[in-house]
Amino acid sequence: MSGNKKPDLKKEDLIKSPRAIKKHYENSPINDDDFRLSPKGLTPEERAEALDKFQDYEKQQKQFFLGYQANQKLNYSKTLSQYLDYHINNIGDPFVEGNFTVNSKMMERAVLDYFAVLWNAKLRPDPKATLSYEDWKDSYWGYVVSMGCTEGNVYGLWNARDYLGGKILLVDPKAEVAARKASLDGVAAPINQHGMYYQAKASKENPNAYSPVAFYSQDTHYSIVKAMRVLSIHTFNEIGSGKFECPLKYPEDYPPNYSKHYLDDNGWPLEVPSNEDGSIHIPALVKLIDFFSGPGMGYPVMVCFNYGTTFKGAYDNVKEAVDKLVPILKKNNMYTRKVYYDDKKFDIRNGFWFHVDGALGAAYMPFIEMAVQSKQLAMPLDFSFPIFDFRIKEIHSIAMSGHKWIGAPWPCGIYMTKVKYQLQPPDDPMYIGSPDTTFAGSRNGFSSMILWDYLSRNSYKDLIKKAIQTEEMAAYAKTQLEKLQEKLKTDLWIEYTPLSLTIRFKKANPGIVFKYSLSGEDLYVNDQKRSYSHIFMMEHVDRKKIDSLIEDLSKPGAFPPQSPKKQVQSFEYEPQHAKRILYVPKTGRGFK
Ligand SMILES: *Cc1c(COP(=O)(O)O)cnc(C)c1O
Repeated sequence: MSGNKKPDLKKEDLIKSPRAIKKHYENSPINDDDFRLSPKGLTPEERAEALDKFQDYEKQQKQFFLGYQANQKLNYSKTLSQYLDYHINNIGDPFVEGNFTVNSKMMERAVLDYFAVLWNAKLRPDPKATLSYEDWKDSYWGYVVSMGCTEGNVYGLWNARDYLGGKILLVDPKAEVAARKASLDGVAAPINQHGMYYQAKASKENPNAYSPVAFYSQDTHYSIVKAMRVLSIHTFNEIGSGKFECPLKYPEDYPPNYSKHYLDDNGWPLEVPSNEDGSIHIPALVKLIDFFSGPGMGYPVMVCFNYGTTFKGAYDNVKEAVDKLVPILKKNNMYTRKVYYDDKKFDIRNGFWFHVDGALGAAYMPFIEMAVQSKQLAMPLDFSFPIFDFRIKEIHSIAMSGHKWIGAPWPCGIYMTKVKYQLQPPDDPMYIGSPDTTFAGSRNGFSSMILWDYLSRNSYKDLIKKAIQTEEMAAYAKTQLEKLQEKLKTDLWIEYTPLSLTIRFKKANPGIVFKYSLSGEDLYVNDQKRSYSHIFMMEHVDRKKIDSLIEDLSKPGAFPPQSPKKQVQSFEYEPQHAKRILYVPKTGRGFK
């Protein structure tokens, strides 16, 4: 565009930072200079030019998007675009209306009921009926999160930490009296209904009774690790390594092909070992939990199961794991226990918390189960469906992303637990008029509308069809990659975890990685470092997209040589007087 079209805006007006990133991506047609702002705003022409470039870019990238578990086939604008000019906020608890009336809580509650039915939770009773806590305690509670599944995971583990940690919330009997007295000092005193947050005291016999220990597999998403850090929750490795002998013996207690190089200097794994397919190795989990909850230890335990891991798409067999863990927890008096907050007053709680990170799988595996049951999807004879939901009565919480398999224009998701496990934060800000039970203050009301719109347009029948179609696309992509492998006469390291929606293979060149937005991960295999790419079969992925990828992958230079001996670049320094505590993923596990 020529300079004289924008008389008010000179080049010098644009805010130019000295930052290094000029080009958006190596192979990208646009760069940061196309989008610079100025204190004077931009002229209509300049804006239009930037927006055109933006549209071209997003359209192009959406067209070939294959690398992440985010559905790009969206169909919301017709019904919902008008609400971009509303501020719809679901602040506070979904089941309490509150005074912020421009909300979509009626849709949020419908969506939550839908997932409660899908995940076999008990629906909430009629609040108008005079019911006791007994009538409520087994029913579900949940909310539509503003972030993605990360928020559901952090919220679930926060709840788990306080529940296992012996935190108690009671109504403060002194609040109103205190406010009345304070007002005598001359200043208007608010009469907030206070809760009081208490900490139960651990007994001398078991000082660890309220110190929860976390267990999660080495394939776990980094949001769980983030929750550990945000919430200062300790992992079994932090508590055990260097202090006790590891209850797992190498190699017999580890999955086949588990490398002992994953063990730390004290012979402990940093995370619970995974099987090769990415699912948690149940025998190791059981041994670890027996040790930590057992005699002389007495720690309450929290387990984060994966239902659709980020890189391999694997499903932990939650049912099998719980079936094996329950007798162990009973034996160690951790299945239920009394949490005393007075000499004679106590809560009966579990000494464990089972959280399911179902970011991906919790959305579609129920439909796969229906497809298998109705014989629309053939499974091997020895196949048993990995049940993960509230049919397992020991499950405490489930989290799911809404923007992955279902599809939404921004991150969203669901968190669900049962009323009896809820521990409400003490504040009940009167100006909202609705208890502060959720993670965020203001909550995204649009996400509930998106999910409602989607679920109202699709029947179970439609969703079973979609689930089968995504599984079939995975089979197609695998076959095409295998054909390519034969043609190229080279090992492309193609791997596929059964029933997952992802296939991993040798990392493609940067041009292909950019074009298809391919996510990657580095793994060591037989002492050799391998870089992988992976693709995810979401609804928008069709044969045409797969064929296009295969065509690009069959061109010379598609798979740049990898130097297997090349070490991961690392800083040699290791502090002598600070304890190692956590693995914090920097790449892989969906991070990059
Ligand atoms: C994507 C993902 C998350 C995080 O979800 P966001 O919606 O990205 O916050 C958590 N766990 C697993 C297994 C995931 O794949």
